[in-house]
Parts: sequence; structure tokens; C-alpha cells
Amino acid sequence: MRDNAPNSWESRADTYSLYGFTDLPSVHERGAVVLTHGKGPYVFDTHGRQYLDANSGLWNMVAGFDHPGLIAAAKAQYDRFPGYHAFFGRMSDQTVMLSQKLVEVSPFERGRVFYTNSGSEANDTMVKMLWFMHAAEGNPQRRKIITRINAYHGVTAVAASMTAKPYNSVFGLPLPGFIHVGCPHYWRFGQTGESEEQFTARLAKELEATIIKEGPDTIAGFFAEPVMGAGGVIVPPKGYFQAILPILKRYNIPMISDEVITGFGRTGNTWGCQTFDFMPDAIISSKNITVGLFPMGAVILGPELADRVQAAAEKVEEFPHGFTASGHPVGCAIALKAIDVVMNEGLAENVRTLTPKFEAGMAYLAQNKNIGEARGVGLMGALEAVKDKATKTPFDGSLSVSERIANACTDHGLICRPLGQAIVLCPPFIMTDAQMDEMFNKLGDALKTVFKQVA
Ligand SMILES: *Cc1c(COP(=O)(O)O)cnc(C)c1O
Repeated sequence: MRDNAPNSWESRADTYSLYGFTDLPSVHERGAVVLTHGKGPYVFDTHGRQYLDANSGLWNMVAGFDHPGLIAAAKAQYDRFPGYHAFFGRMSDQTVMLSQKLVEVSPFERGRVFYTNSGSEANDTMVKMLWFMHAAEGNPQRRKIITRINAYHGVTAVAASMTAKPYNSVFGLPLPGFIHVGCPHYWRFGQTGESEEQFTARLAKELEATIIKEGPDTIAGFFAEPVMGAGGVIVPPKGYFQAILPILKRYNIPMISDEVITGFGRTGNTWGCQTFDFMPDAIISSKNITVGLFPMGAVILGPELADRVQAAAEKVEEFPHGFTASGHPVGCAIALKAIDVVMNEGLAENVRTLTPKFEAGMAYLAQNKNIGEARGVGLMGALEAVKDKATKTPFDGSLSVSERIANACTDHGLICRPLGQAIVLCPPFIMTDAQMDEMFNKLGDALKTVFKQVA
């Protein structure tokens, strides 16, 4: 499997890389998969092996790995104006055009856009905007940020503090003032005899109790992903956002929708907040905003926050924040093209067309006695492995079940991602029917192989 020659790609990757978010025992045994190129939804490694990437890279490369129109748009902008910043009242024409476009395709009537290089930085930027705004409005004590257990908002010190996952304790995070409320996963956290609606009501009550306990006027904002992505594709219980939004409103707490994964079509609508029918105060975008061809994140402020943050900036005469590459012209040109490709070249539509087939494939695999739950919305889904379906008992952690499944998939030429004890699927929007069959067949084989070993 791995090529152990000292000069192999695997050995060189091991020698010179500090692997991030990588299961080190697996990579030591198997070697890194070093990729050279892609074609449609497939990627190819240095050994010439082909993999169907059922995760669209990292949720983001929804137009595949060689889209000619996107590559042409990038090249054209490199020829025209290959780089600039957005400080001191200067910015590229592409930056202006993209901001206008983002407001137009947003659920907001009007708004303002600020650029970063990643989703983490966009969340970090939004937190700073809230602190800046509350302070300028005479409420400097409004600094606490509320997120949910299992949420993923990124990796910078602030975004990791918002990311309520146990692994961040190795960094001594979260920072003080980052508060985590209950995870909206009914299958896992619903109590015996509790209906989905009762579960929603309990979470809403917990949120309100937390706000009151902390002091409503100490809270700067609440952030939520419409569907938790890296938390394991957690679709909220019925009526969840309808239950929590009025509570946030009652205490004047801005609600920020982290749409880094759900933005631009993943759930079947342009935005996750449209699929789940709620109106946030701002949207965080990244990942498929450039379909993975350029690092970019964006904060899209709705009308009220746009006015309030702008008023704060007028008062201070500056919003002292920005990244050197914020609003990079090549990134903006790619994003403009990406939005056009996703929305107008049939990709978003293909998500809706493929969803029933995707759901059927998930439901079929969920018949396996070691799959406890199949969940998802649009083209994002997860299959949760369990030792015992009736009691929802997970496998012993030391068995690394989901890693084994993902590794077996890789052996079969399929890339998918282990998350906790679940396997996540988030295929590119260009997938065909035949490629979806290939995905489920290969995953089905891998499940059989691994469950035979561990069950
Ligand atoms: C990926 C992700 C982020 C972080 O984005 P990066 O570009 O990796 O920093 C933030 N929020 C959500 C919901 C994400 O899925």
C-alpha cells in the first residue's frame, strides 16, 4: 500500500509535513494520499489511482476538479489585474461587483459585505464587528458569544472557542466568555419518550435560561450553522429555529447564520436559512463561495447590522480590521463566476434533482444492523455506525470504526470522511446518477468489510 522508499511521496510527506486534522496511526500505516490532478468529481494520486471524492474536497469543490469556465475566469483575472488589497478606500472592480452580487443573492433586501481568507476568519471578523458595534453603542459589556455543543466554526483562537468540540481543550480553549448550549441532535440527545417538538422546546428553554443566567446585556451574539456540518451533519429538530429566534430577539441578541457549508446550494436552496425558513441578522460564507479555487470568506451583514456596524465605524471614523488579501481581485472574479456556475449552469438544480436518489441510497445503507441513523438534507448526509442499533450504543472508541470504513473506501477508490463514528457524504453538485451509484456501491462494500471485522 504505502511506498516506504526514502524518496517516495509518502516518505517525503511524512518527513516535511505537520499533518492537520489527520489520524496519525492511519497515516503512519497507510501513508498520505498525494494527489496530482482531478477530473470531474474524481481525483488522482501519484500512483495513478483514481478516487471518487464523495466529500467535494472539503465540502467546497462542488463544481468538480477541472471546470473549464472557472479556470478560464481565474486565468483571465490573473492577466487583467492579478492582485490588490481593499484598505484605505481602494479596492478592485471585481471586489465591488462581488459585494453587490452577494447582497443580491442573499436573503437580505440590502446589506454590506466584508472579506476574509477563510471561514474561521469570517467568524472571527463577525465577533469583532459585534464587539465593536456594541461598544460604540455604549454597551461594551456585551461580549459573550453563544454557540452550540458540536458546532464547528473554525480554528482561529476565537472561532475554535466557538467550535464546541472536546478536542479544543488541548489548546486550553474555549477562551472565557464563549458559552455552549445544547446540541440539536434529536436521535442522540432526545430523552426517552420525548417527542421531537418537546426536544425543540427543551433546547429553547435551555437557551433562554442560559441567557438569563449570564445576563442578557452581556451577550454579543448567537451563532449557528443551519445544519451542523463538521459536527456530523446534524439537521435541527422540527421548529428549532422558529423556537429560538424569538428568544434571541427578545434579548436583542443578533443571530448569525454560519453558512460556510450550507451557502450556495448544498441544502437545496441558495442558503440554509431558506431551507429552514428563518431570517438571520448576518451570514457567514466561505468554502464553496469560490468552489474551492481560491481561499475566501465573507461576512454578509443584513440591513440592521449593516446600519449599526456602519454607524459604529462612522463614529470611530474607521473599522480597524482587514486582511492583506481581503477582497482579492482573483478570488472575487472566481467567486463571481462560481456563483454564476452554481446558480445558472444547473448545479444547484442538480442538488435538488439528485436529493431523492441520495436519500434512497442512504436509507438503503441504513438497513445495515450497524447503522444507527441515516440523516441529512439536500446533498449532505451522514451514516452513524453503532454497535447496537436498538440501544444506540456506539462501538468501542479504540476500534476506530469510522476511520476503518473511510480507509476501506479509499482502498475501493472512494474518498469519504470519518466524523466521530459517522461517515459523512457531501458529493459535488456535478455528480451524475451513475457516479452516485458508484459512491453507494463502494461505501456499501466498505461497510460490509468493516462490520464483519468489528461486529
Ligand atoms: C469549514 C467551516 C468553517 C471554517 O472555515 P475555514 O475556511 O476552514 O477556516 C467555519 N464554519 C463552518 C460551518 C465550516 O464548515
